[in-house]
Amino acid sequence: MSIAATTELFALHRTASPVPDDERAAALAAPAFGTVFTDHMARVGWTATAGWSDRRVVPYAPLQIDPATAVLHYGQEIFEGLKAYRHADGSVWSFRPEANAARFARSARRLALPELTAADFVGSIEALVAADEAWVPTGDETSLYLRPFMYASESFLGVRPSRAVEYLVIASPVGPYFASGVHPVSIWVSQDFHRAGPGGTGAAKCGGNYAASLLPQQEAYAQGFDQVCFLDALTDTVLEELGGMNVMVVHADGSVVTPPLSGTILEGVTRSSVLTLLADAGHEVSEAPVVLADLRAGLADGSVTEVFACGTAAVMTPIGRLASDDFDLTVGDGTAGPVTMATRARLTDIQYGRAADQHGWMRRLV
Ligand SMILES: *Cc1c(COP(=O)(O)O)cnc(C)c1O
Repeated sequence: MSIAATTELFALHRTASPVPDDERAAALAAPAFGTVFTDHMARVGWTATAGWSDRRVVPYAPLQIDPATAVLHYGQEIFEGLKAYRHADGSVWSFRPEANAARFARSARRLALPELTAADFVGSIEALVAADEAWVPTGDETSLYLRPFMYASESFLGVRPSRAVEYLVIASPVGPYFASGVHPVSIWVSQDFHRAGPGGTGAAKCGGNYAASLLPQQEAYAQGFDQVCFLDALTDTVLEELGGMNVMVVHADGSVVTPPLSGTILEGVTRSSVLTLLADAGHEVSEAPVVLADLRAGLADGSVTEVFACGTAAVMTPIGRLASDDFDLTVGDGTAGPVTMATRARLTDIQYGRAADQHGWMRRLV
């Protein structure tokens, strides 16, 4: 699916005081996730009466908001996360931005926010990356992380969908997620908290889901674990996903299973891409419930060989240990597995232009 982006509709107001070249070079040499931002941001406004208007790229700056702004009180907010990748020839590309645009529209619908068109979503990214092209790093596994988001901007304490909305995109150079190579993480399976419930907002990418995941995440840290995996809210028996990553299980026969999109799971672009690449490589892939009791048995008897998490930020993260109140299991020999690492390499080779893009996933930005 190719979208004609409305890039040219975004008026460019260049900053008069860009970050000096040496400071930018220092930031690009050691990028830390989400700490340094580029010179500009893209913006579109919306009101119930006028619709979307005023597409622009403006200097990156703090927002001034009224204390009564609706998002501060009722959390009507959604976001996206995707990356711009520098290829060896200097060109800059995004990975399946149309999929993020479609998901952003689905998230908007669930949060009673107005839907931005895919043309405006992709157009805003193209316009921002064109303005801040110098901020796209060149190092191995580095990228420019793009964060589109939308929030209820009306100053009004009544409980109803906001009649004014702001859409913005900000960008931050990021380094390799694993500075010293890919290491397996340890996962605490939460039996006390849920991330999402049937009919809730689990399938939408909204800040509220993340807010709800912070306390369980904090408790996992306190016990020495890296991340939390949540179970389904109805039965507490099947795996759903991590706070911000989908999860997959690899069996000794090469088959791979991931939880189905039941309405409580976020439909990851990485998840979908990994399923395709695994099938390309001859793996039998299925979207089926991952029953915790079966997974425990499979880890104990060796029929489950790898477990990994996937999402844009870390791409694919091997899981080396899975534990909860009543079990503590090592996955395989606790190191990164071959299926995880081979698929990770396949995917990043496509994203960085080192392998042919057979599925038409890449879109050139600059
Ligand atoms: C963003 C997100 C993911 C991963 O989605 P990608 O499109 O692969 O980055 C998975 N789970 C949750 C809850 C998320 O918010």
